[in-house]
Amino acid sequence: MSEKILVTGGLGYIGSHVVVELCAAGYEPVIVDNLSNARASVLERLERLTQRALTHYDVDIRNRAALETVLEREPGAGLIHLAAFKAVGESVEEPLKYYDNNVAGSVALFDVFERAGGGGIVFSSSAMVYGDVKVFPLHEGMPVQPNNPYGASKAMMEQVLADLAQAPGAKTRGLSLRYFNPAGAHDSALIGEDPKDRPNNLFPIIVQVAVGQRDHLTIFGEDYDTPDGTGVRDYIHVVDLAQAHVMALRALLDGAFEQPFTALNLGTGTPYSVREVVTAFERELGQTLPQKMGERRSGDVATLLADPSAAERAIGWSAQRDLPDMVRDAWRWAGAARQWGLWNDDDQS
Ligand code: NAD
Ligand code: UDP
Repeated sequence: MSEKILVTGGLGYIGSHVVVELCAAGYEPVIVDNLSNARASVLERLERLTQRALTHYDVDIRNRAALETVLEREPGAGLIHLAAFKAVGESVEEPLKYYDNNVAGSVALFDVFERAGGGGIVFSSSAMVYGDVKVFPLHEGMPVQPNNPYGASKAMMEQVLADLAQAPGAKTRGLSLRYFNPAGAHDSALIGEDPKDRPNNLFPIIVQVAVGQRDHLTIFGEDYDTPDGTGVRDYIHVVDLAQAHVMALRALLDGAFEQPFTALNLGTGTPYSVREVVTAFERELGQTLPQKMGERRSGDVATLLADPSAAERAIGWSAQRDLPDMVRDAWRWAGAARQWGLWNDDDQS
């Protein structure tokens, strides 16, 4: 019998790709997702893609009693915890919403998991934990100093997980994965990013321009201290990211780590500017995209770039996909999603 792995947020953008990779690796994912930012139809599409019936509990991670029932029914030693709110701007406006869901929710989940026997927890963290640093690339030994409530919620949960794993007699070990900029979609075009609200990220915004839902792209600043003056990020294909979770979980469950808690960057280590991303889309589409230069976006940093070498040493993972792959798959997914009436549709069914 294959091993059950609890996946919170398993119907979301990244979680759905993790579910596919868990199935491919022979695990049995058990999805916990309250559909606060996902459509129920993701489950059907995941079942089509994986060719198997999947288990989903419509449960909020803040509901301890419901979580206890799930863990009684679905005992397992692995937990991949992705459920969270993730909009930085909203976290500044409504910090308590973020601390409640991301921190209180995670504390409840970890507590129930530890009491049910513990095991390995892989936690979705973010490059945001490093805050506004000016030195690149970023490595895991650098200080954690987030500069917004969302980043702080991730940093707090890393600390909570580290403390839990180091506590005397603890049955849980932890691995935190600090994602850089996830992009792209599964190449089947059955799952991908499906923003519920108006997107803020570069990839979905470019797609909206390409399909005529927006007149133009505004490039936020051309006076940064970067090679072409536009912001530089470390974009990582969501399938590479998902595969890293499976490798991380396996290493954790095999006892491959000396320390009870480890944090790893997940990026490619390759920098791309806004202009380079736009050019890659224009090449894929065979057309130029309407664009305007704008002011810098408040809170943006010039460069975010990972040193991903620790992940390679620790779990044998490195990204296999590049920017043209991300662009091609994001575009293919947008086409399929629009055909199904998903993309930017208000109906969250
Ligand atoms: P997403 O919103 O698509 O997925 C999150 C899922 O969690 C959603 O399906 C939502 O319904 C569910 N969820 C939220 N709160 C819940 C709760 N209380 N109980 C049960 N389910 C709940 O987001 P994503 O992009 O897939 O992100 C997944 C994780 O990765 C998050 O923890 C996010 O903070 C982290 N992350 C994302 C990015 C990014 O750019 N997408 C970057 C760094 C880190
Ligand atoms: N960006 C832009 N125009 C947009 C959206 C984003 O120029 O409409 C830039 C942004 O300033 C940053 C890069 O694209 O330099 C990536 O932004 P995104 O929001 O996707 O990621 P994050 O800033 O959270 O790393």
